[in-house]
Amino acid sequence: MKAHHLSMSRVALAHLCAWSFRADAPQHPRPAGAPARIGSGTHKALEAYVKKGEVVTDLPGMAPEEVAEALAFFSPALRAYVDTIPWIACEIGLRYDARTDAATAGPRRGEPFYSEIGPTVIPGTLDLVSVEPDIVTVLDLKTGKKVEDREQLYVQAVAATRFYDVPKARVGYLYARNTKCDEPEWETLDADALDAHAGRLSRLMRRLPTVEPKAGDYCWKCDSRPSCPAFGAQQANDSGRELEEAGFFG
Ligand code: SF4
Repeated sequence: MKAHHLSMSRVALAHLCAWSFRADAPQHPRPAGAPARIGSGTHKALEAYVKKGEVVTDLPGMAPEEVAEALAFFSPALRAYVDTIPWIACEIGLRYDARTDAATAGPRRGEPFYSEIGPTVIPGTLDLVSVEPDIVTVLDLKTGKKVEDREQLYVQAVAATRFYDVPKARVGYLYARNTKCDEPEWETLDADALDAHAGRLSRLMRRLPTVEPKAGDYCWKCDSRPSCPAFGAQQANDSGRELEEAGFFG
């Protein structure tokens, strides 16, 4: 039975408002649009390249124009950057338990049993992982616009250091662009920084079952918006203010 709706890729929103990730929060997932399908195709090309050394020329199940865009993102420049680091894992499923501060391997999204998690476990998929004796490197591939926060990287860093039993992590986003790539702005997290992030995750998961909604300018990212009382109240306030400013109330 699924205990909650939170995964590593959604931790940034959860730190702002976690109500939609409660087990009892109504979900209204939006169908994946073309940018998400193209991003998924680029990730499949990355996985084939890193695991099998293949440069794919087709992505079965995708529309031809979306295949072309996904493969343009998986450019020679991006492959050349990927080749600079000896990866030991690609698209690996990990689950981090914020109560025990431990990580285990697990299914990736879409695979059987992905949703079967305990109440304090956060599942996720790490795109690229490299391990040295005292540091693990985690790279997350992005095909969209620049991500302003690093929360997804931090939870991945905590999970990877616990899983591979190393004290430090180096994390960054690699941006696939049409025919080129934007290389990562690396951030190194020492043991204290990792413990601090683990503590934030522990608090987040402890409060999750009873957390209340808190509306903000991030609500557009949320799958519970149509049913959320705080979002509804904010919309009503905004409408009332606009009517007042337009002089409808004399
Ligand atoms: S719509 Fe906004 S306030 Fe409501 S759960 Fe989502 S993020 Fe929180």
